[in-house]
Amino acid sequence: MVQLIDGKTISKQIKDELKEQVAELSAKGVKICLAVIQVGNDPASSVYVGNKKKACAYIGIDSLSYELPEETTEKELLELIDKLNKDDAVNGILVQLPVPKHIDEDKIIKAISPLKDVDGFHPMSVGALSIGQPGFVSCTPAGVIQLLKRSGIEIAGKECVVIGRSNIVGKPMAMLLLRENGTVTICHSKTKDLKEVCKRADILVVAIGRPKMIDASYIKEGATVIDVGIHRDENNKLCGDVDFESASKVAGAITPVPGGVGPMTIAMLMHNCVDSINIK
Ligand code: NDP
Repeated sequence: MVQLIDGKTISKQIKDELKEQVAELSAKGVKICLAVIQVGNDPASSVYVGNKKKACAYIGIDSLSYELPEETTEKELLELIDKLNKDDAVNGILVQLPVPKHIDEDKIIKAISPLKDVDGFHPMSVGALSIGQPGFVSCTPAGVIQLLKRSGIEIAGKECVVIGRSNIVGKPMAMLLLRENGTVTICHSKTKDLKEVCKRADILVVAIGRPKMIDASYIKEGATVIDVGIHRDENNKLCGDVDFESASKVAGAITPVPGGVGPMTIAMLMHNCVDSINIK
C-alpha cells in the first residue's frame, strides 16, 4: 500500500522541537523576533501573514507586524527595511509577496540583509546554498527535504527529478537534493519527453503550477512523489499538481494536498527564524 507522507504531523513535530529550543534560548535571555511586512490587503496574503504570526506565537517567537497601505511607495518600504536591518532586536524580516505592482520586488528582496533573510530569497542566500555555505534556505524546498528525511526516504544515490525551475521552489529544491547526494534532473516547459524523464525518478518533486497534470503514467512503480502545487479544482476543493487518485496507485510514497508540503513551509520559516542566531 502507498505510504502517505504526512506534512501535518511532521510540521507539528518541527514546531514543537522549535518551541523547546526557543524556551531554552529564552531562559538564557536570548529572544527571537520576526518582522512581518504586508503592503496592501490582498486576502490570500492576509491569510498567509496571519498564519505566520500564529506560528510565531505558538513557538514563542516575537512578531512585529507592519500592515502598510496599498499606496506605500517603494522608497517608504525600503526605508522601513533599512530601519529593521539596523535593529539588533529583529532577527528576521519577511516581506509578504507579491508586493503591489508599483514596487520592484527584486529591489525589495535585495534590500533585506542576508543575515535576516528568513525567506531565503536574497541572491547571497541563493549563492550560499549553491556553494554549500551556511545561509537561509527557501522554506518550501527545505520543507520537502524534511518530509523525505522524517519519512525514512533515503535521498543519497537516488534518481531525483524536479519539475519546475522557479527561484523559490524548483531551483533551490534541486540544489538541496544535490546537497543530500541525490542524482538530480531539472525539468521545465521546454523539456522533451517529460514523461520518460519523470519515469526514471526514484523521487519526483512536482512544482509546475498546473492542477493534476502528473498522473500515474509519469511515475515509476514504487517512486516517491512530492506534490508542491496548490490549486482549487472545479468543485472548489484543494488539489495539487499531481492527480492523487491516479498517482497513488503506482507511487510507493506520496504527499497529499492539503496536508503534505503546504504546512511545511511555515514550519521551515519558523526554523529559519530560530536558525538566524547561527547565521553570521
Ligand atoms: P512557477 O509558475 O514560478 O514555475 C513553474 C515551473 O513549472 C516553471 O519552471 C515552468 O517552466 C514549469 N512548467 C510549467 N508548465 C510545464 C509543463 N507543461 N511541463 C514542464 N514544466 C512546466 O511556479 P512556482 O515554482 O512558484 O510554484 C509551483 C507550484 O507550487 C504552484 O502550484 C504553487 O502554487 C505551488 N507553491 C506551493 C507552495 C507551498 O507552500 N506548498 C509554495 C510555493 C509554491 P518554465 O521555467 O520553462 O516556464
